[in-house]
Parts: sequence; C-alpha cells; structure tokens
Amino acid sequence: MVTSGFAKWARVGAVALLPVLEVAPAAAGDTAPLPRADGYAAPRQEMVRVIEAIAGYAPLSPGRRALSPDVLDVMAEVPRHAFVPEALRDRAYDDRPLPIGYGQTISQPYIVALMTDLLEVDGDDVVLEIGTGSGYQAAVLAPLVKHVYTIEIVPPLADRAKGRLAAAGYANVTTRTGDGYYGWPAHAPFDGIVVTAASSHIPPPLVAQLRPGARMVIPVGAPFLVQHLVLVEKDLDGKVTTRLMLPVAFVPLTGGH
Ligand code: SAH
Repeated sequence: MVTSGFAKWARVGAVALLPVLEVAPAAAGDTAPLPRADGYAAPRQEMVRVIEAIAGYAPLSPGRRALSPDVLDVMAEVPRHAFVPEALRDRAYDDRPLPIGYGQTISQPYIVALMTDLLEVDGDDVVLEIGTGSGYQAAVLAPLVKHVYTIEIVPPLADRAKGRLAAAGYANVTTRTGDGYYGWPAHAPFDGIVVTAASSHIPPPLVAQLRPGARMVIPVGAPFLVQHLVLVEKDLDGKVTTRLMLPVAFVPLTGGH
C-alpha cells in the first residue's frame, strides 16, 4: 500500500523530532526494585532509562542538566499500559506515541516527561491540561500537584479517559469535554498549563488564566508541519516571555476558535 507523506505524518503525533538514540540494555542486577508489581515493571524501568538518556543531550528547562527525580519517579510508577488500546499494551513502554483512536495519539513518553518537567510544579499547584486524550499526561501530573483539570474536545475520548483515571485511582483529576482553547475560567488562575495539541498561536485565554510566576508548555506551529515546543513564562509583574525548546510533531488543536 502506498502511504502519502501526509498520512505518515498524521500517525506520528506528539513526538520529539530528535535523532534516534541507541540505549544499551540494562546489565543484570542494574534495575532497582519496583513498587508497582503489575507485570510491566521491567519495561517501565527501561522506558525511564531511555528518557534519562535522551534528556542527556536534548534541551531541558533553563539552567537544568537533568530531568527532576520526582518526574522520573512518577514515570516509573504510572501504568502507561492502562492508557493505551489493549492490542498495543505490549508496546506501551516503547518511547514512541501510539494511536488511541479518533485520529489521536498518546504522546511519546520522553515528551510527557519533558513537558511535565518544564512546568516545574509542586504539591500545592493546580494545573490545567488541554487535550486529555488517553489521560496519561494527567495521570503523570496527578501525583506531583494538588489538582489537575483537563479538557478534551472528542467526547468518547474524554469519557474513556475519565473512566480510566478513576479506575486507576487518580482522585485529584477532573475531566471535562469541550474546547480547551478557552481554558477553564472557573478554576483559574492556574499554576501551570500544558497543551498537548499543536496550535498556530499561543491562545490568549490560556495566557490570561496563567498565574503570575507560572509556566505554560505548548507546541506551536502549523498542523502537519514541524512545530516547536514553547515554554511560556509569566513573571510576577505579568510580563510574558517565550522560549523555543525543541522541534516536535503533535496532532492539531481543533475547535471553532
Ligand atoms: N495528553 C494526551 C495526548 C493527547 S493527543 C495523552 O496523554 O494521551 C491531543 C489531544 O488533544 C487529542 O485527544 C485531541 O482530541 C485533543 N484536542 C485537540 N484539540 C482540542 C481542543 N481544542 N480542546 C481540547 N482538546 C483538544
């Protein structure tokens, strides 16, 4: 079958456009004991090793040389296999995006770790995610913050993620179906905002809902072309600065705006 470049691109959603890295397999006895005994502990730990290796040569939060240990611990804990279609569970811990239906993808684990790290959240924070998708990014944020609000525009994906997050015990995540471009004013301002679909511009309503001193991470660029992961910082005086982090490919932010 001939696949057009467009279709190929559409299938790679939410991935960092970095050279592929060869990571040597872990030596015997190299793996720390793991708290979650669900049959996936070893591949999940391997996934964390790959994430750490990529972080060794890819851009990180300004002034940082490694991903936060808290973020890596959460990546080693959250059951990604519970957020992918059953038929793809064996590949759940590969460092790549996977299809979740409705033309959407669960992001590459490295990208989830990086976006979480860039937010620099702490345990008192209330954060907003745009693009719930599978619910995995929300599950990664949940143990690191006080509350996660997350908005998904495709109703069946929102319903499924809500069920999965509840079943997996993530009690501090609230989901909603809707167009995330406009944020969630009732719970603003947010201590961090993460947008997991690519927008042609940084949505002004989201900037308005960012607390002074907080960060937003968002892929910006044209759909199906190279986009950039952008770190948006609002300082304590309300001044907004942006920083291009790295080239990425995300599914587009849709909706009527
Ligand atoms: N964070 C997700 C990745 C999902 S891919 C995960 O961890 O699995 C991006 C998601 O954004 C898709 O599910 C898509 O339907 C959703 N989306 C696209 N435009 C949106 C919008 N305007 N508002 C809310 N969600 C949107």
